[in-house]
Parts: sequence; C-alpha cells; structure tokens
Amino acid sequence: MNVYDTEIVKTVLADNKYKLTEEAEDADIVLLNTCSVRENANRKVFNRISHLKHQSKDVQIGILGCMATNFRKQLLENPKLPIDFIAGPDSYKRLPQLIQEMDPTDTSGNFDVTLSEFETYSDVYPTHRTGVNAWIAVMRGCDNFCTFCVVPYTRGRERSRSPENIVEEVHKLADEGFRQVTLLGQNVNSYKFEEHDFAHLLEQVSAVPGIERIRFTSPHPKDFPRNLLEVISSNDKVCKQIHLPLQAGNDRVLEMMNRTYTRKEYMELVDEIRTLYPNMALSTDIIVGFPTETAEEFNETAEIMEEVEYDSAFIFKYSERPQTIAKRKFPDDVAEEEKTRRIVQLNEIQKRNSYKRNLAHIGETQEVLLEKESTKKSDQEYQGRNDANKIVIFPKGGYLSGQFLNVKITDATPHVLRGEVVEVLGK
Ligand code: SAH
Ligand code: SF4
Repeated sequence: MNVYDTEIVKTVLADNKYKLTEEAEDADIVLLNTCSVRENANRKVFNRISHLKHQSKDVQIGILGCMATNFRKQLLENPKLPIDFIAGPDSYKRLPQLIQEMDPTDTSGNFDVTLSEFETYSDVYPTHRTGVNAWIAVMRGCDNFCTFCVVPYTRGRERSRSPENIVEEVHKLADEGFRQVTLLGQNVNSYKFEEHDFAHLLEQVSAVPGIERIRFTSPHPKDFPRNLLEVISSNDKVCKQIHLPLQAGNDRVLEMMNRTYTRKEYMELVDEIRTLYPNMALSTDIIVGFPTETAEEFNETAEIMEEVEYDSAFIFKYSERPQTIAKRKFPDDVAEEEKTRRIVQLNEIQKRNSYKRNLAHIGETQEVLLEKESTKKSDQEYQGRNDANKIVIFPKGGYLSGQFLNVKITDATPHVLRGEVVEVLGK
C-alpha cells in the first residue's frame, strides 16, 4: 500500500511542478513514506533520517504515512528532531500547500495528519513504475480493531472506491501494457460500495481486456463468503492464491486479539477453499508471543501450520503498538527469548512445508508471466511468477517482459522453482 501511495504522491507533486530526482543526494526535499505496523519499521525510519541529514544538512525531510501521527507528538516534544514537515495518509493532496507554507524556523506547526472518512484518491492517477504488475487501492482504512494492530488508528475508517472508477483505472493500466493488477486494501475483501461487494468487483475487473491476472491483498478470513470463493476458484483471471492471515491457533488468544473467528471456523474455511479448488496456494501471517500466550497455546499455532501446509508464511514477534487495545490492557509479558524460540520453530516448519509444496510441482508445466532478468546468481536467466505467485527461474531466450510462457518445472528450493520454457503463449 505504501508503494502505491508513493505513486499517488508522485502524481500530486508532479502536477505542482516538483521534479523527481534519481538519487536522494540530489534532492532538496526527501519524503519518507512510513509504516508503523511493527516496531522495527519505526527504527528503520529513524536510521534513514539521521543518514540523510548526515549526507546533507540542508535537505528538507518530510514524513508521510502511518508514522505521521506519532511523529507529530515527538516533534512537538522535541523541536530539534530533524524533520521539516509531516503529512498523514489522507493528506497527500495538500502536500504542495504544506511544503509551500511550512515555517522553516519553527517546525512544530508544519503538519497535516487529519484522517478522512471519504478520501480514496480516486481522482489521482498514480505515477506507475515499470513492470508487469500495477497496484490499485480499492478501499482504505480498517474498522476491525484487532487488539494488537495500529492500522485503524493510523489509517482511519474503511471506505471503498466506486467500481466504475476502479474499472476505468484498470482500463488505463491495460492500455499502458500492464498484464496484472493487484487490488489493495488494509482489509481488501470487506470492499463494499453501495450494493457491490468484493466478488462483484473481481468480476468487473476481470472483464477488462489485456489484464490477464488479478491478485489482491490483504484479506481478512472473516470476509470470504461462498460467492467470493466461487469467483476466485472459477474465474481464470483471478490467481489461485489466497492469503489467509491466521495470527494464532488458540481460541483464547484469537479472542483476546479480537480476530472474530475460532480455530475451527478458520479450518473450516481452509477446507471449503480446498474442496472448491484443491491446488489453491495458501499463505498466512502469524504473531508469536501475544500477551499471555502460553507455550501450549503457541503449540496450537504450530499444529495448524503443520496441518494446513501453507505455501508461505510471514511470522512476526508481537510488538506493542501505541494506542492499541492490547497495549492499554495487556502487558507484553512473553519474554524476548521465548518469542525468539517460537519464531524459530515456526520458520523451520514453514521452510520444510514450502520446500515440500515446491518439490511437488516438479514435472508440472506452469503458466509463468515473465518479469525481468533473474536477481539470483546468473545473468543468463529470466524470472517470472506462476499463478500462485511463486518465483520461477528459467534460461534466457528471445522472450519479453510481460509475455506468458509455459514452463516445465525441473527443480525446486524452498524459495523458488526452476524450469525450461516449452511454449510461448499467445495472450
Ligand atoms: N489486514 C491484515 C493485516 C495487515 S497488518 C489482516 O487482518 O490480516 C500485516 C500483519 O502484520 C498482520 O497480519 C500481523 O500478522 C502483523 N502485525 C500487525 N500488528 C502487529 C503487532 N503489533 N505485532 C506483531 N505483528 C503485527
Ligand atoms: Fe489490523 Fe488487519 Fe486487524 Fe485491520 S484487520 S485491525 S489491518 S490486523
């Protein structure tokens, strides 16, 4: 979402006669688009600010994104903090004005962090990077208030763009040559605009000629009604890959997290998906060491990982976030070493599962969308992604980025598949 928001900011600034520099050292103003979902994201931003100021004392630094609200407080408390202005996620259209009107001698008033119930940037066409995939935000904000999560506070209430407006943007993207769109939202499958739900939106987007693949992120397990699962499994353009954030495997912990599903309900959803489409690739997010989580309760998370055999998983140590219900109510009482033990255990399970799932593809012929030269060791290879979003590496030939190729899988590691092109597809 931040990559996409940065594309929005580029358009807003370019429309107001600001020019992008290739290197940060050449810039008069540097904008850092921040994330505050976990503590180490925060740390990175502080390191980056001191590095930039070290390079040039005169550069003006603006903070954008989720850390804006918290930075505002820190700036008020510490006027020496080397930040010149701050704009929150709903204030990007006012950036040119904010930059022009900022007071260089007293920075404490140089901010706009108002959250809006309506802003969707539907009238700003993002400045896209090159490549085969374009991001497109279809909804913003989150109303779920999982107790560990800062997003509802930093990004505000849920709001969706109209399907007409989204489809119009997808047409433009197809005209520019993009082959894939990824629909984005903090809670993308709770998309709702008048009578249109997410399933309906997927159908409308898939009717756009030229776009051959549709992905979406990040969904919540509570919003997968039957009609949506049917569209995902039966529509050829919708990729057969679902991210299904579990967070924890124990019901008491899930309830404390306010995830609104039980272990049983989650597993029933996995079964329903696999009955409809047995080879659906599944990925997940997990938090270890949520306050009061015992070793036995954690084992239930490990059990689910063994049972589901996800294709990939993002596993995080719980980190206390400002304003959240968990921070206010539950002391962060699982020891750091214990969190480390748990994350290591789950990463091992996942590595084993990813490898097993990848090995099972050897011998198959898969449709791959060619992206670019491989970033792995050899410059003699290309890389693309299969429908399940796995990286597939194969020897170079006269192929072009954006082409669809049939690749026979000959080898696998836990992270990538390797193969040989057997056919260039006409789409
Ligand atoms: N809307 C998505 C998640 C967005 S945040 C969902 O509901 O699933 C991305 C991931 O960051 C979350 O799934 C969670 O696993 C992790 N995360 C969020 N807050 C966290 C915290 N306080 N500590 C550790 N991980 C956290
Ligand atoms: Fe955060 Fe996702 Fe929960 Fe919303 S649904 S509060 S973004 S974890």
